[in-house]
Amino acid sequence: MPKNIRVRFAPSPTGPLHMGGVRTALYNYLFAKSNGGKMILRIEDTDQSRFVPGAEHYIMESLAWCGIQFDEGVSEGGSYGPYRQSERKSIYKAYADQLIQTGNAYYAFDRTEDLNELRKQAEAKKKTFIYNAQTRKTLRNSLNMNDDEIKKHLMEGTPYVVRFMIPENICITMNDLIRGRVTVKSETLDDKVLFKSDGMPTYHLANIVDDHLMEISHVIRGEEWLPSLPLHVLLYEAFGWEKPQFAHLPLLLKPDGNGKLSKRDGDRLGFPVFPLQWKDPKSGEISSGYRENGYYPDAFVNMLALLGWNPGNDQELFSMTELIEAFSLDRVGKSGSKFDPEKAKWFNHQYLIQRSDKQLASEWKQWLKTEKNLEPESVKVVKIVSLIKERVNFVKELWDEASFFFEAPESYDEKVIKKRWKTDSPEQMENLATLLDTLEDFTAEKIDEKIKNWIADNELSMGVIMNALRLLLVGAAKGPHLGDIMEVLGKAESIKRIRSGIKTLLN
Ligand code: GLU
Repeated sequence: MPKNIRVRFAPSPTGPLHMGGVRTALYNYLFAKSNGGKMILRIEDTDQSRFVPGAEHYIMESLAWCGIQFDEGVSEGGSYGPYRQSERKSIYKAYADQLIQTGNAYYAFDRTEDLNELRKQAEAKKKTFIYNAQTRKTLRNSLNMNDDEIKKHLMEGTPYVVRFMIPENICITMNDLIRGRVTVKSETLDDKVLFKSDGMPTYHLANIVDDHLMEISHVIRGEEWLPSLPLHVLLYEAFGWEKPQFAHLPLLLKPDGNGKLSKRDGDRLGFPVFPLQWKDPKSGEISSGYRENGYYPDAFVNMLALLGWNPGNDQELFSMTELIEAFSLDRVGKSGSKFDPEKAKWFNHQYLIQRSDKQLASEWKQWLKTEKNLEPESVKVVKIVSLIKERVNFVKELWDEASFFFEAPESYDEKVIKKRWKTDSPEQMENLATLLDTLEDFTAEKIDEKIKNWIADNELSMGVIMNALRLLLVGAAKGPHLGDIMEVLGKAESIKRIRSGIKTLLN
């Protein structure tokens, strides 16, 4: 392991950050923190044509929501800055020039339409056009021109790109911390564009130069960048720089395992793929986010951590501190990880039930205020939450399970009436109301005792009585233990519901 561990998360602000991107950031963070290293945020915004307003802010807000912190970056600063590539523009040209001088790169003046034509011709033969040793000798580039011609083009401002010259007929061997040794033949590679005449580097050049200048020790990124690795390795060699170590993380797959989980999948399949809600600045289209869907950030992070990494035992719940302690790259798998939206809910459920009743109650009180304009007493909310939290995954679901605590039933479930409301029910329920009215201490325990004795004394059926009573109190066959419900409702309200229910059902 190098002495100074320095890793970076290097998103391009071309849209909202996908959950796969968040996982990449998370693994970088866990790796840095578990090795006493530094975590850097670098914004890769050299491709101005793909720039999306608001995306950079969105990325930073998402990572902050997840609790992924940076030691250096756009907001944090640091001695390797600036950390936004558009602000580093002046740095890159010298490196492109250096590669031209050392014979590792060349100017290419080809017109887009000519290259498109070559691509089309190749396609017609079911082949792919590659700009490399097989074709470069016949194209409009500096390799086929004398110095005067090259100078003339540059002086006249002919648009150009600088291409990296992939060596002919070699095998490039790379080492990946997750995949091991990977070998690629150079004839399959393109002479990739490194720099354009508008003065902007492409991703490849800027990325390598910055990783070098920022002294990045480990490049941990998504598998989609594996095809770029041979070029990156060759670039390091051409510059004569020491390479960082590389780790390419497995893809996140759709729930059915068929293909990569894409930005489009989320709302189509009924779950978010973005950490926060995103509104497309052009179309106004809204994509849902984990935060707005009611996920706790620690549950989301816990779930993501286990999509590709495993602790080697069956522990599933990890705080960030525990993740930092347990994480290592050698427990990251090679194959894609299927995303399971139900499991994501399960994680949220686990974090929800771990919260104290008081804490959960205060979260729900806020929801009740904004969504229902209700401001119930805290003691009541704490009690309700303690009764129903096991039944829900999200704070917003508490209402579906507990609205009857706040609103007396206005209607009664027809199916339940058919099944549970008998000819004797009105009389029995009236007697029960009278009985409950005599109870001084209206607690669940006393209520239960009273009802139980009364049922026994009158040789009634527990099931028949309790189901009819539940129908009157709740309006349906749901809810926690009846004694608890009545204790929360209080004596007056419970009796009122019984009597008005009898009346309604008699009509
Ligand atoms: N800017 C690239 C991205 O958006 C970074 C890839 C890398 O980490 O090298 O994913």
